[in-house]
Amino acid sequence: MIDTGDNLRAALLRAMQTANLNAATLPMRGDLATFADAARTAGLSEIATLRAVATALGIACAESLSSYPTSSDFTAAIPIAFARKHKLLGLAPPTADSDRLWIALGDLANWDQLQVVARFLNRPITPLLAPGAVVAAAINEAYQQRTGQAQDFIQTLNEDRNAVLDELQRLAAGREDLLDNATRAPVIKLVNLILFEAVKANASDVHVQPYEDRLMVRMRIDGVLYDSYTLPKLVQEETISRVKVMGKMNIAEKRLSQDGRATVQIGDRTIDLRIASLPTSYGERIVIRLLDKSARLYDLTELGMDPRTLARFEQLITIEHGLILVTGPTGSGKSTTLYSALQRINSKERNILTLEDPIEYQLDGISQTQVSDKKGMTFAKGLRSVLRQDPDVIMVGEIRDLETATMAIQSSLTGHLVFSTLHTNDAASAVTRLLDLGIEPYLVASSVVGVLAERLVRRVCANCAQSYRPHPSEMEWLGVERSATTKMRMGTGCPACRNTGYRGRLGTFELLALDDDVRRLIQARATATEIKEAGIAAGTRTLRDDGIDKILAGVTTIPEVERVTLRTDDADRSMGVPPMHSSAASNAPL
Ligand SMILES: [Zn+2]
Repeated sequence: MIDTGDNLRAALLRAMQTANLNAATLPMRGDLATFADAARTAGLSEIATLRAVATALGIACAESLSSYPTSSDFTAAIPIAFARKHKLLGLAPPTADSDRLWIALGDLANWDQLQVVARFLNRPITPLLAPGAVVAAAINEAYQQRTGQAQDFIQTLNEDRNAVLDELQRLAAGREDLLDNATRAPVIKLVNLILFEAVKANASDVHVQPYEDRLMVRMRIDGVLYDSYTLPKLVQEETISRVKVMGKMNIAEKRLSQDGRATVQIGDRTIDLRIASLPTSYGERIVIRLLDKSARLYDLTELGMDPRTLARFEQLITIEHGLILVTGPTGSGKSTTLYSALQRINSKERNILTLEDPIEYQLDGISQTQVSDKKGMTFAKGLRSVLRQDPDVIMVGEIRDLETATMAIQSSLTGHLVFSTLHTNDAASAVTRLLDLGIEPYLVASSVVGVLAERLVRRVCANCAQSYRPHPSEMEWLGVERSATTKMRMGTGCPACRNTGYRGRLGTFELLALDDDVRRLIQARATATEIKEAGIAAGTRTLRDDGIDKILAGVTTIPEVERVTLRTDDADRSMGVPPMHSSAASNAPL
């Protein structure tokens, strides 16, 4: 609701009376947070509240900060932690001759901090109100751009690379104690360089893979594995040892697979590393999965859902109780979607708890629990504990067995909204998977309210995209008529996309909302194909249909949609493989 008219002012006045405040005393009282709470209780949206306050105080308010350049004076002087904590960001003055700094404020509770900033920078400031999430995203972006130092460092490392390798080779030739070598500077530099590169390229995984005569470093970027470095065999032991030391793993143990974890700070970003080793005939193979703790959350509207699917999904997630499933192979964006959904329904009135493996993102105001089979905290056991915490909404990272499935379904039937994921090809197969696990059809039919199947496709690089007239065979693949105006787009390759023609990803979706027809089919133990057909008859658009729309919109390409729709079979076959070894982080940037 964006409305600064009379209705809003009336609502605002009512809210102010409730909070026992009046407009004249607001800035003096410094109690804008109380007012914001009152406004929220009165049913005003965040932006409407901000606009009302801005009007009352005679200051500006913006729904988006995209047209406001950031002030480099601000980012140079104010640490990112302070900016993040108080949700404020300096904007360049609208006119160059003005000494006044504009400060975007994303949380009225931090109004007093404006004075702190003004004193610290010794400049007059003009506040501008903006939604909290908008300011938070702008802060991340502003400080991301200020990576001059990091860039320089990477540059130095790049220039040093040969020297680093030379030194490593000398060390290796000397056959010194590995325990010592693992802490030596060159190998640390080399591993840091690899991690820097991985973070810079937004890689979700780094593979360190030994061959007979060399050590390969490969990175998974936007879901696809690329060769990054070929290192000489003689640095293998030390490189791998260094990674294992970082993960607090036992470096003397080389015959058993191990898991480790580490957290590294790269520039302004905090990255969690999940490290797994596996002995092979040429030495230990290492996979490092990168989880970017500072990655921002995506709003549901940013994931790539077409407006109709989005509207139906938004409707589904606001119901009181039931089971909502998101399905697809590992790395298909399920976690990102679930986080966006939880974020959307998160409010003080709702008690939301999650069970995850791993926790990819810390959600504000939501209790997240790490599941670990090793420590005996399984999904089923965790779920039992979570149910004693009086939850309204529960997110169970994954349904893998009958026990978890049974408990998730029971919870959804006893007044809880439950979200979970399954590894299945399409939405309809999720329903039959539950039956295959041993759940009674009437329980599935009465608990599941909707299934969202998802895949990530790579986005055509905006920097080097070119339109072209599709070939008749391409139109045949799409199954649509070519008109004189049909255009498709592909990236031609540029430095921005590492010559791949793609940059970033977006989701393709298939939403099956369960209606009476589908429920009857489930009761009758119909096949997934029959359920799928009933869904299509009722308006479900398949993953392929959605992909085709995106190809015709020039957002992605035929090979991409082909890749992710073919891959479904492989994904199902590899279900037993632990997610860490098999693929991309689902929280990867879209
Ligand atoms: Zn490009």
